[in-house]
Amino acid sequence: MYKTHACGLLRPEHVGQRVSLAGWVNRRRDHGGLTFIDLRDRSGIVQVVANPDTSPEAHQILEDVRNEWVLQVDGTVQRRPKDMENPALPTGEVEIEADGIHVLNQALTPPFAINEETEVDEMVRLKYRYLDLRRQRLQYNLELRHQVIKFIRDYLDERGFWEIETPILFKTTPEGARDYLVPSRVHPGEFYALPQSPQQLKQLLMVAGVERYFQIARCFRDEDQRGNRQPEFTQLDLEMSFINKREDIMDLIEPMYTEMVEKLVPHMRIFQSPWPRLTYVEALERFGTDRPDLRFELELADVREIVRDSDFNVFKQVLSNNGTVRGLNARGCGSYSRKDIDELTAYVKEFGAKGLAYLILDEDGSVRSPIAKFLTEEMLENLKTRLSAKPGDLLLFVADQAEVVNESLSRLRLLIGDRLGLRDPDILAFCWVVDFPYAFWDEEEQRWEPSQHLFTSPLPEDIHLLDTDPAKMRGTQYDVVLNGDEVSGGSIRIHERELQERIFKLIGLDPEVARERFGHMLEAFEYGAPPHGGIAAGLDRLVMIMAGEPNIREVIAFPKNQAARDVMADSPSPAEAEQLEELHLRLIDKK
Ligand code: ASP
Repeated sequence: MYKTHACGLLRPEHVGQRVSLAGWVNRRRDHGGLTFIDLRDRSGIVQVVANPDTSPEAHQILEDVRNEWVLQVDGTVQRRPKDMENPALPTGEVEIEADGIHVLNQALTPPFAINEETEVDEMVRLKYRYLDLRRQRLQYNLELRHQVIKFIRDYLDERGFWEIETPILFKTTPEGARDYLVPSRVHPGEFYALPQSPQQLKQLLMVAGVERYFQIARCFRDEDQRGNRQPEFTQLDLEMSFINKREDIMDLIEPMYTEMVEKLVPHMRIFQSPWPRLTYVEALERFGTDRPDLRFELELADVREIVRDSDFNVFKQVLSNNGTVRGLNARGCGSYSRKDIDELTAYVKEFGAKGLAYLILDEDGSVRSPIAKFLTEEMLENLKTRLSAKPGDLLLFVADQAEVVNESLSRLRLLIGDRLGLRDPDILAFCWVVDFPYAFWDEEEQRWEPSQHLFTSPLPEDIHLLDTDPAKMRGTQYDVVLNGDEVSGGSIRIHERELQERIFKLIGLDPEVARERFGHMLEAFEYGAPPHGGIAAGLDRLVMIMAGEPNIREVIAFPKNQAARDVMADSPSPAEAEQLEELHLRLIDKK
């Protein structure tokens, strides 16, 4: 071993001890004829100095080294002279008086500073990921991620869960995305699919009598890389037998997250405990989305009835087409300029809205608005009351079909929340969303699409709607939403062949195809499958939020870029002709 101690942990209590340290040169500086370096390892940095009279060789090496060289340092811990102490540094009261220094490796000048958290272009960071990871911010993120996983393992182990690995080379496990396929060499023309989740396998483990399973599971989904997604990501995947209601899972998961936050990120605060529970319908009504950010109010209001008889053509047309008009109160934004409002309008247009109507409430109580002339005095008063508006507020309205109104206003709500500083990253607003519609009608495909996945059970009291009115049937699904992000989702499952086949039929899966793809599930359900349910939690997203990071790439050691490329290893990359031959594949010339 090159080291007896960690650099960042040395304190006055070590004064007088001989130590061997190893790490990287974080910084070198000359000061009053002496050369100092900060030696850095994973634990932090410590100052090293060598006396030119008693240790001339060590002193010479300190003069020669450059940032990021790798050194072993032998020496004695000593107290720094009082005027040389650095209270900003955990090791700031001590330094190492070195008498032996060995250069273990040299380093080129790195493409960006390792010893500072300067802004660096993300492409460069990803190309030199091993250097980026050396920096403090990502070291913290890696450690936090490790602690989160360790916490989960301990928590579930204490509650009787077994961690079981399931195959990566499997068969299609649909979660609504495209599969990654792996061609088989030994079975010409056949393919494995990488699991989009271990869903079927964990259910089969329940049939297998495991009763309580979990896994820190890698999942693969071939989706367009918009926003915060990665082609491969990690879930805490979990399943339990002999449960029949969602509370059985909620009572396990809610304390897990709560204790984890208290232990690992004590500077963060859980907004409300117990977590609020919203139905899907309520979430849409109040926030326009099933992933509401509950850190702030600014709730949406339905104003259809108030403006039904207005002379404003846009409202009239939308309402006669069965659309809706909803608004929100941007509190205190009454001083927004025309340009500000144009910006907000452009923003909602990105989400399909055709425009943004507004009312400004001046400090004297009068209303300014291009649409005011189409509204009666009474309508204006009612709008103010409905949105509990005060002088200085800005009321914003979108009129369109419900989906467009919800999408654009829910996004606008977040934007206004950001602008008003209402989205404190240290506040964690968890909630449960339940009572989702079991399935949505897919107009394009002309079929029902399950809102979770095909193994979710409908609510028992709604199963009778399966053949008569599927639109009204609710699922047993539950989602955990955190600060506007979905961080977990699960359900009570189907465990009987007959019901599973009826669901396949509902979503228009041909019985022949269903048997081909999911025959193993149907069969297993006939051999004493216990009632069961579970949940999966997106680990990347959770760690991202706990680390206060803006995207999941910051909490994944080796992420792909937005175009699904690994720019460090330059992957994906072409295959050799022989490899393709062995796999019985021929490429189509896409030109
Ligand atoms: N397999 C589901 C998913 O990946 C979660 C679950 O139902 O447990 O979203």
